[in-house]
Amino acid sequence: MPRRNDMKKKFIIVSGGVLSGLGKGVAAASIGNLITKAGLKVVPVKCDGYLNVDPGTMNPTEHGEVFVLDDGGEVDMDFGHYERFLGVSCKFSWSLTMGKIYEEIRLKERRGDYLGKTVQLIPHVTDLIKEKFYKIAEDEKADVLMIEIGGTVGDIENELFIEACRQIKKEVGPENIMYVHLTYVPVPDNVHEQKSKPTQQSVALVRERGIEPDIIIGRCKELLDSGIKKKISIFCGIEEKAVISGVDVDSVYKIPLVFSKEGINDIIKENLGIASGVKDDWKKLADNLDHTEGKVTIAICGKYTKLEDSYASILEALKHCSANLKVKVCVKMIETTDVNNLEEAGSLLRGIDGVIVPGGFGSRGIEGKVQIIHYCREHGVPFLGICYGLQLAVVEFARNVCDLKGASTTETHPGTPHPVIDILPEQKKITDKGGTMRLGAYPAVMKEGTLVWMLYGKEKEAWERHRHRYEVNPEYHQALLEKGLIFSGLSPDGKLVEFIELPKEKHKYFTATQGHPELKSRFEKPGPLFYGLVKACVEKE
Ligand code: GLN
Repeated sequence: MPRRNDMKKKFIIVSGGVLSGLGKGVAAASIGNLITKAGLKVVPVKCDGYLNVDPGTMNPTEHGEVFVLDDGGEVDMDFGHYERFLGVSCKFSWSLTMGKIYEEIRLKERRGDYLGKTVQLIPHVTDLIKEKFYKIAEDEKADVLMIEIGGTVGDIENELFIEACRQIKKEVGPENIMYVHLTYVPVPDNVHEQKSKPTQQSVALVRERGIEPDIIIGRCKELLDSGIKKKISIFCGIEEKAVISGVDVDSVYKIPLVFSKEGINDIIKENLGIASGVKDDWKKLADNLDHTEGKVTIAICGKYTKLEDSYASILEALKHCSANLKVKVCVKMIETTDVNNLEEAGSLLRGIDGVIVPGGFGSRGIEGKVQIIHYCREHGVPFLGICYGLQLAVVEFARNVCDLKGASTTETHPGTPHPVIDILPEQKKITDKGGTMRLGAYPAVMKEGTLVWMLYGKEKEAWERHRHRYEVNPEYHQALLEKGLIFSGLSPDGKLVEFIELPKEKHKYFTATQGHPELKSRFEKPGPLFYGLVKACVEKE
């Protein structure tokens, strides 16, 4: 077989075992983060075995947040970790779902690409998967392709991705590939001892599939002791020093530091011949998290509050503010389905310094959100509305300031007398639900002198990512402006309201955006509106 890797690209394959939810994405992103220190370009690829083309049609309470990319791709939330840890802007094509792969195989078969052949899982599907890996690596001029296999080894739906990853070792050469396997090391309360059996069994499953891990990361509530490292080393055929503690930490940004301390950089060097380590700025920010002064409490008032992952990027954006402003940011989730009036909103917000009303869909919980926003506006509580949060801030302003009785969004009240939020004209004819919203990065032309303009560095334009079907209805722009709402940023044609705020004299910090600024917030550079919110809360102290 001809060697595919004439360009000397490196491949890192990350699989997981025992349980889902151990943080495989964060582990992969952390390894990538260490590698970027040397200035190498690390490109992430995520393989997901489900048959949806993308997670955009799944419920966030089941699957976590849907992450949106600049190019409008709706992808798994692990891409959020990748962007935050690798400093890249990811592309939709880097997300490989079985839904996408099968869609393409079926098209190819109908087109006659396989004429005369029986189309099979191996080699046709695995070949297509490998082709995708190599194409991404080449197109992106990647130095390292970081391939994460979703789910756990042993799941039927991921077998073909694993098989493709096994096959590429021969094609790229063993010196250019490294296999990482993440497992779980429990410490049962009754024995107080780190247990290696789940790791042994999970590694046995990987080896059955022809993959020998080069690194085993044991996720555990404590650092792995030398006894268990030795045991894992013996049973799993791996050097002791290649068994790395994936110890629980209070912030994911500390994981590159943990891995480094555990000696992962030496193993990366031995396997791939590349230098890696923690970047100085990163270390400084991670240290800041342990040296905060003061504390602010931010409430996220939404309806997906049962699963924190539904608001993953917002939580990360707040961490970014915490590290940069050196202040502890506590988060309280408030379920808005339970808020019936202004009084209830007020009592729920007792002890809260600032409020975020995040994005969402449908009617559950929206009247509660309107009550919360009403309270924030009238009581000077620092407020940030995101997407649905902007729309409902406009609804609240229309009802209570512009006196437009019954004003609402046509998403939930199609017969409202004042449709201040209405569906985008180009959305009206669309019937398919998958990938059809207004998605991806769009520019807003900023209004000079506004608070939002200042927070975005006084630039003429601000780009944020979007995921919505509804908009502030242009027919109501005038009415809203007349009553003092400020449009801090509009789409270049002036039709779409992208940012709003209240005048300084009326409110210290009341901003909202139709975009999702949490998606572009970075550890090294927090999203401007989050930064503004937390700062306003600190200054209130
Ligand atoms: N449901 C609203 C819309 O579709 C808001 C979407 C969101 O918050 N992401 O426009």
